[in-house]
Amino acid sequence: MDSDILVVGAGPAGLGFAHSMSGSGLRITLLERQSRNALQHPKFDGRDIALTHRSIRILEGFGIWERMAADEKHPVLAAKVLNGDSSYSLDIGADAVGLDAMNPGALGYLVSNHVIRRRLFQGLGDLPEVELVTDSTVTGVAQTAESIGVELAGGGARTARLLIAADSRFSDTRRMLGIAADMHDFGRVCIVCRMDHEKPHDGTAYECFHYGRTLAVLPLSSHESSIVVTASSSDRDRLMGMSDKQFSSDVEGRFGSRYGRMRLTTERFAYPLVGVHAKRFCAARCALVGDSAVGMHPVTAHGYNLGLSGADILAEEIRKALGRREDIGRFDVLRRYEQKHVRNTRPMYHGTNGLVKFFTDDRPPARLARRMVLRIANNVPPVKRIIRNKLTEIGNRNDVLPLPFRSSR
Ligand SMILES: Cc1cc2nc3c(=O)[nH]c(=O)nc-3n(C[C@H](O)[C@H](O)[C@H](O)COP(=O)(O)OP(=O)(O)OC[C@H]3O[C@@H](n4cnc5c(N)ncnc54)[C@H](O)[C@@H]3O)c2cc1C
Repeated sequence: MDSDILVVGAGPAGLGFAHSMSGSGLRITLLERQSRNALQHPKFDGRDIALTHRSIRILEGFGIWERMAADEKHPVLAAKVLNGDSSYSLDIGADAVGLDAMNPGALGYLVSNHVIRRRLFQGLGDLPEVELVTDSTVTGVAQTAESIGVELAGGGARTARLLIAADSRFSDTRRMLGIAADMHDFGRVCIVCRMDHEKPHDGTAYECFHYGRTLAVLPLSSHESSIVVTASSSDRDRLMGMSDKQFSSDVEGRFGSRYGRMRLTTERFAYPLVGVHAKRFCAARCALVGDSAVGMHPVTAHGYNLGLSGADILAEEIRKALGRREDIGRFDVLRRYEQKHVRNTRPMYHGTNGLVKFFTDDRPPARLARRMVLRIANNVPPVKRIIRNKLTEIGNRNDVLPLPFRSSR
């Protein structure tokens, strides 16, 4: 066999899984269709990823959080949720609901997707057991009782004891493995970019559920924010076709000029919104991680957070199997990963989809219900605490292995 584990896709999830297996003694091969140069110097793609406390602890365990420069990590100190044209907001602050000393005063941190990818790639240099094969597209999969193999475009082939598919929400590997997935096309598009503004944001993240469109303004450096506009797919061309000036004043107007003048500072990127939840996270000698298992609507900012926690759970089950001297590709080993991870993903996936439906229904009763929900959430501390814990994953602290164990891998 060429290696112990083949991972298809060196995106943030595939790279994260490779780091999770560090020090296990297993030989891991990452197969990626992009070039080495593209992985080494990933370009800005408009996505600023909100990382929860749990994800930060996982990245600390990899030694990646420390590798990120201070100006690449932006704390979110408070969050406000607005409904329609009203200025009333649901306010979630780290202090307001009594965070304990274990969780310093940030709800989470924003880090650009290309920075996460670059830093995880750089960290591979510390993992001698990981082989990275670039310019390699997986085009076929074949399983036997003892091994699993892939065919590569251009004629190569690889075999291992276990195959991990981490090749995006539209995963070809998932399909080749015969694993079905529920897909939901929201008929909407997400346009992301960065803007600077006259007034500082003071670390506050805004989620504005305006009628017809939603706008998220997420804090980066003091006078710069990440902008996420969600609109109907039919509005895509109009929004992308606006001049920089028109787009800037459109966003500024919809944001009620809270930060004064706003100006586009980057390219705009459009992502079609399709949610995906695989029916199974494993089959014979294979498992799915990252968006290949669950591709989330970005409104609750949980896609990559679930990707990291899933990789962490799978790595732990594989380590336990190694400890018991079991075959790491055994179905019951992989099934334990599936059972644990699906407990996190299924409620999050369906809850997020339900939230999107609720907050994009512009009929009068739904508008009224939203107003009430924001007021109840603001005034009933336990409800607020549940919302905050779901967003930040603070309550999940104990699910992650303690740092000394992780750093020794
Ligand atoms: C606008 C937007 C905002 C978001 N905001 C957040 C947020 O705030 N918080 C959060 O947690 N998440 C967020 N997400 C989600 C997050 O970006 C994704 O969950 C994450 O990038 C998925 O990583 P991945 O590695 O699973 O997939 P990908 O990033 O899609 O990587 C897949 C990799 O597999 C490779 N590949 C594909 N097919 C093959 C093949 N056949 N052979 C070899 N290689 C292959 C690709 O080249 C790629 O490198 C957001 C997403 C969007 C669109």
